[in-house]
Amino acid sequence: MKKISVIGAGTMGASIAQVFAMADCEVALCDRGMEYVERGKGIIEGSLQYMVKKEKISERQKEKILSQIVFTDQLGVCAGSELVIEAIYESMEAKQEIFKALEQVVEEDTILATNTSSLSITAIGNALCHKERFLGMHFFNPANIMKLVEVVSGMHTDPGVAARIMQESHNIGKTPVCVKEHAGFVVNRILIPMINEAIGVYADGAATVQDIDTAMKLGANHPIGPLALGDMIGLDVVLAIMEVLQTETGDDKYRAHPLLRKMVRGGLLGQKSGQGFYIYEK
Ligand code: NAD
Repeated sequence: MKKISVIGAGTMGASIAQVFAMADCEVALCDRGMEYVERGKGIIEGSLQYMVKKEKISERQKEKILSQIVFTDQLGVCAGSELVIEAIYESMEAKQEIFKALEQVVEEDTILATNTSSLSITAIGNALCHKERFLGMHFFNPANIMKLVEVVSGMHTDPGVAARIMQESHNIGKTPVCVKEHAGFVVNRILIPMINEAIGVYADGAATVQDIDTAMKLGANHPIGPLALGDMIGLDVVLAIMEVLQTETGDDKYRAHPLLRKMVRGGLLGQKSGQGFYIYEK
């Protein structure tokens, strides 16, 4: 694809825009105000600068990648895009609103994708007139490093559209897996209950935070322990995904641990708030 747009210049949107620009696409990165757009630009600059420092790219390549991205607060810039990926807040209402607005701007054959972690693809797509061109394109954090993309079809997604996004995922250097509409898709259905379980082990007083993480790193060969991972993802996000899993399946095995609820209520969200299971320097 030659031109793609990303809506939402936060943690995920900025990183997704960087991935496409590095794959030589023209990219528009759009947020609701220039202060948010500038923040997203800063995320990309920081990441590229790190790559320069590590001698993965040259200063010239960094400038070229940056020059391929248009930073804007105007949704109209999405016109002419072959693909638009939405990465705004995890809110059904906000996402549906954006897609309704996008349908007024883009061409009929533009593929529309959401990076949602937990919301139903079919339900978001219900806001659209042309539901067949809509699907989930779920990147992992940080998108410029993590190889996986879950390509998630809703009830109305055209199989040809999913096939094109599988191919495009390969083109940008990712490994896609094909997923049908399903709560938590594949990774979060397995990963998030594991983090919730680790919180239970800690709450039961069975082991310290450090020992639980060490146990899973050395005993299960995980690169990062489950409690550190929960802090990295954001404990509010972990809670929201547990709630979706429980609601969608009706199964109480997905009940969020009371300690997780307490921590979120108390603002202990992990890295982003400075404290979760660990304390982080701001
Ligand atoms: P974030 O809070 O870092 O960024 C969201 C951005 O969207 C903000 O810059 C905000 O200003 C912008 N925004 C909000 N409403 C908007 C609107 N109407 N128009 C344009 N921009 C708008 O969030 P994030 O962590 O990047 O998550 C974005 C999406 O990606 C969510 O759906 C989340 O579930 C999903 N996701 C997150 C992760 C993760 O680890 N953070 C991983 C995979 C998927």
